[in-house]
Amino acid sequence: MSPPRLEQCRERDRQDPLASWRQLFDLPAGPVYLDGNSLGPPPRAARKLVDRVLSEQWAGRLIGGWNEGWLDQPRRLGDSIGRLIGAGPGQVIVADSTSVNLYKLLAAALGAAGDRRAIVTEAGNFPTDVYVAGALAAELRQVPRQGLAAALDPSVAVLLLTHVDYRTGHMHDMAALTRAAHDAGALVLWDLAHSAGAVPVDLDGCGADLAVGCGYKFLNGGPGAPAFLYVASALQASGVLASPIPGWFGHARPFDFAPRYEPAPGVERFQAGTPPIVALAALQAALEVWDRADLAAVRGKSLAMSDLLIEMLDDLGADVVTPREHPARGSQVSLRHPRAGRLARALIERGVIVDHRPPDIVRFGITPLYSGFEDLGRAAQALGDLLRSRDYEAERFGVAVQVP
Ligand SMILES: *Cc1c(COP(=O)(O)O)cnc(C)c1O
Repeated sequence: MSPPRLEQCRERDRQDPLASWRQLFDLPAGPVYLDGNSLGPPPRAARKLVDRVLSEQWAGRLIGGWNEGWLDQPRRLGDSIGRLIGAGPGQVIVADSTSVNLYKLLAAALGAAGDRRAIVTEAGNFPTDVYVAGALAAELRQVPRQGLAAALDPSVAVLLLTHVDYRTGHMHDMAALTRAAHDAGALVLWDLAHSAGAVPVDLDGCGADLAVGCGYKFLNGGPGAPAFLYVASALQASGVLASPIPGWFGHARPFDFAPRYEPAPGVERFQAGTPPIVALAALQAALEVWDRADLAAVRGKSLAMSDLLIEMLDDLGADVVTPREHPARGSQVSLRHPRAGRLARALIERGVIVDHRPPDIVRFGITPLYSGFEDLGRAAQALGDLLRSRDYEAERFGVAVQVP
């Protein structure tokens, strides 16, 4: 990378109205962090809020904390996430992990589908989605992207799709595919792991039925942060969905300790057990940052950043696999390289934190709240050096380090 190019990147950072948001996050000074799509950094406010829950509520009031808003946290934080994904209040709840939420919603959808026993998903979908759907459905069809609509025959109960592909960053047309599922008499379940806090989502506007997503990626809720799930109001009202884990927190009146299970009328029925209050405090701090963010500005900067990165990777002759068209692009840029694992490890050693997804993808996550154009310039510079020198062939880069 020539110095003028880096200087251009710095100039764009100086013009960027979101540049100051980086101060809201606790990031180490040295490295360039382009892996916030795997694990977002801690918002500075998280430390204070977690400490307050520990010292004032838990230590100070012990079990009395349950009377100080703990019980409503999953619903309240669910509504905050709802604002990021186009879901009106009362349709999103924070609970469990994405995998567990997938299981609960898919099982519920299959239970309500009568003779329809098949699930259709995209070939190459994220492994946990494939594993969970495969365990639940009598038949799991993994179909290439172009064949999805055509695969929706009368045996299909659910179309299960990850909105933004974790490898390529390709983004589906949610409205069109939701319509296709409904035209075929199926429900649709969207996995928003790489969408919530990353791209505009309009679940209500698209008429989506069900969705799940992560708290620890673009939302910055902390490692293993509680995940979320969405059930559209119309489906809630129909009363046909039953959780396969009818735990007491999904009961209409958990504290009646009634002998017989009676599901809560709303989305609360998809809670199973006691919510993780300490972890929810970190997620709350992260969502309070998101509450103040202008989502259109975040998307605008994300596209400007990914446009620039794609341009720089093109200049290096890299094989960019992320779509060029904005409506089909999530908030990451990926390249394909036969030595992708080595390349990613060599970039990390040079202070550019990216990740590798087998077999041959290097991912650069784009997170406009705390990263900027100079970060991309430095990443392209390090990549250019490596591609020219082939230093990634060094023996030490042949050993994979386990990173989830
Ligand atoms: C990261 C990710 C998950 C993670 O699931 P957890 O159970 O929360 O670990 C699920 N689906 C997709 C598409 C993902 O990218």
